[in-house]
Amino acid sequence: MSEQAQPNGEEMHINPQRTQTLAENLSHVAQRVQTASNGRKVRLIAVSKLKPATDILSLHNSPSQHLDFGENYAQELTEKSSLLPTAIRWHMIGALQTNKCKPLAEQVANLYCVSSVDTAKKADALEKGRAALAGKQDLEERKLRVLVQINTSGEEEKSGVEPGEAAGLCRHVREKCPHLQLAGLMTIGAIARSQEASGPEGVNEDFVRLREVRGSVTKELGIGEEELELSMGMSADFEAAIAQGSDEVRVGTTIFGERPAKKDAKVKEERADEG
Ligand SMILES: *Cc1c(COP(=O)(O)O)cnc(C)c1O
Repeated sequence: MSEQAQPNGEEMHINPQRTQTLAENLSHVAQRVQTASNGRKVRLIAVSKLKPATDILSLHNSPSQHLDFGENYAQELTEKSSLLPTAIRWHMIGALQTNKCKPLAEQVANLYCVSSVDTAKKADALEKGRAALAGKQDLEERKLRVLVQINTSGEEEKSGVEPGEAAGLCRHVREKCPHLQLAGLMTIGAIARSQEASGPEGVNEDFVRLREVRGSVTKELGIGEEELELSMGMSADFEAAIAQGSDEVRVGTTIFGERPAKKDAKVKEERADEG
């Protein structure tokens, strides 16, 4: 085991075998992304939720020096960010609770993007957190990127704004949140449609719908389509999403393997030699 000093002075124990497996998995996915995107630039977020911080460090330290990692839970993201290098670009991709928005934006300076904004209240809370952070630090001003999450599938349990409300929320971010940058739109989509659409030929209606929503939002706001990225595609369907114009895919299981139950997840892995 090699040891790596961390910002807080603790050491993390990197397992070379695990590192090799993860680096190979990531490299396979990155190749598939590249093939599907035909030279277009598509960001690959490695979704590390419920996986230990050492897995993230392994990929960040590997020759690819992967930068973009996605997390679903505010507390887990905050804890991991305190343990890991500040060069990492954190993406908060999970359902947001309004009361967690301000602390998240204020405490995690290297939070790169919040991908799941679906109410003006959450945008306002992120704005407050970022304003507080800017006040504390003499940081060169970098706006926090946000994506507006759209419920393209109409499933009640999915978060996201209805397509018809997207333009209003996008306008709110652009006009009322000076510390945020509206960077695009995100959808998860119906699992069933993703499964049907797996493989580059499949067409998931949710992906088509998100592109249509971008068309109407940019028209209503009077901005160019190239100003709004599309974040869509996960392990089961990222190639199909890229074929439909995705600029960013979020891939977890195919890189890190199956996730543990939330109650069993550990940010810090116990050392093998500690039993
Ligand atoms: C968990 C998650 C992913 C990754 O899912 P996989 O199927 O493991 O690739 C992507 N996006 C969101 C919003 C998620 O919650």
